[in-house]
Amino acid sequence: MPNTDQCPLYVKVHPADNVAIVVNEGGLPAGTRFDSDSDSNDGLTLLEAIPEAHKVALTDIHSGESVIRYGVNIGHAEQDIARGSWVHEGILTLPEAPALDNLPLGGETHPPLQPLAGFTFEGFLNDDGSVGTKNILGISTTVQCVAATVNYAVIKIKAELLPKYPNVDDVIAITHAYGCGVAINAPGSEIPIRTLRNLSLNPNLGGAPLVVSLGCEKLQPAQMLPTSALPILTTAPYIVRLQDEEHQGFGDMVTAIMEMAEKRLIQLNARTRTTRPASDLIVGLQCGGSDAFSGVTANPAVGYAADLLVRAGATVMFSEVTEVRDAIHLLTARAETQQVANDLIREMAWYDEYLGRGSADRSANPSPGNKRGGLANIVEKALGSIAKAGTSPISGVYGPGEKVKIKGLIFAATPASDFVCGTLQLAASMNMHVFTTGRGTPYGLAMAPVIKVASRTSLAKRWSDLIDIDAGTIATGKATIEEVGEAIFQMILDVASGRKQTCADHYGLHNEFALFNPAPIT
Ligand code: CA
Repeated sequence: MPNTDQCPLYVKVHPADNVAIVVNEGGLPAGTRFDSDSDSNDGLTLLEAIPEAHKVALTDIHSGESVIRYGVNIGHAEQDIARGSWVHEGILTLPEAPALDNLPLGGETHPPLQPLAGFTFEGFLNDDGSVGTKNILGISTTVQCVAATVNYAVIKIKAELLPKYPNVDDVIAITHAYGCGVAINAPGSEIPIRTLRNLSLNPNLGGAPLVVSLGCEKLQPAQMLPTSALPILTTAPYIVRLQDEEHQGFGDMVTAIMEMAEKRLIQLNARTRTTRPASDLIVGLQCGGSDAFSGVTANPAVGYAADLLVRAGATVMFSEVTEVRDAIHLLTARAETQQVANDLIREMAWYDEYLGRGSADRSANPSPGNKRGGLANIVEKALGSIAKAGTSPISGVYGPGEKVKIKGLIFAATPASDFVCGTLQLAASMNMHVFTTGRGTPYGLAMAPVIKVASRTSLAKRWSDLIDIDAGTIATGKATIEEVGEAIFQMILDVASGRKQTCADHYGLHNEFALFNPAPIT
């Protein structure tokens, strides 16, 4: 591959592939001729214009034959496709998802990755043993009814109290639309309830909750946060209930919230960062606005960083069920034990059933933007998506909103929706987030830093103030997957230590929490 982005360039991922993606910014016109390459694609000439990141046929593909990318069938040709033609979603049929009843179950001896010692970051050690990368005062809510009041109080806390406590990074309200008018004990309701519980216990909030409740809501504080879930037995009050008779009107409610907040601000302010092993990191991986580059640049580079983190003893979570479903046979084979493989299958089956109830299926993903970015269908998207998970054995599987308690590479089941996935990964205890994007999104989270990695240089240049790392250099041959992966790993340590700030944090780009509630609303 020539070491410049001026020549016509394509990227072929696997020797068996009969398509490749066009690398050049702005795409390439009909008649473009590629230099010969080692795969003996002598004089490949484009028969039509092909947009950047879209696929070109490297061979003649006859109607009904497989279109191969990543060495895997991503669909069948619906018509004859001549060498040099644009292979787009309109001429591919979607293959069936792998059946769940005959998958490899892993559990064979996976050679452990070489341990990596000596990597540290500067973090905030909590009483429960978890470690924060930020020092945030979080105020949880049991119900939407109190959200506006808590938001009002947070504005006052930030203006009047926070300046007195300079070691505290931020004050956030964990507001949501759940808590009442819902079937509180229906199957599925445990997901939003444990999500709210575990969000309030996120390591970046000091590992201890503060809660504002209305009083009459279905989700009572004792159900959201049973005593057994509290990390430390504290005698200090940590709940304000707005309907309590002691509050004479709105002013009293706000005063009560502020008094409770100030007691916690004093505790949080007394903390300082200390040197912690990289194994205290709990890094959530996600993609959003993916394109056909994602699976060859940003996601493999993140996968390389994920392997470094696992080798350093950290926890790395990948998620997004609909984006791994079509690659499940590759993942079950990587399960550390047969139990882990069966847990993966359980989460896939649950989601198949969930989508079926809504008369939806996996073809609802990808989005129109993904398709404009060159992704033909969910099979192609999934194969690129799982590259984020690197090469480690999979050590554990957790359901949506469950708190992850073990080290290594973890599948934390979530929908693919960016905000829902991010919220569930925060509930799983994520203290750092890495997010890859090809189309671009200004996504960010208040509770954990979000490092955004662009899959193509054109996006990284256009959004230089929103993208933290450009992985597009991998497609143009200017950097290797290993080099970009190491840069991501180093940035994770720097951001976790407070030495560097992400673009999203610089501008305060913090998306709303979005709960996943598969249970009925009444
Ligand atoms: Ca996503």
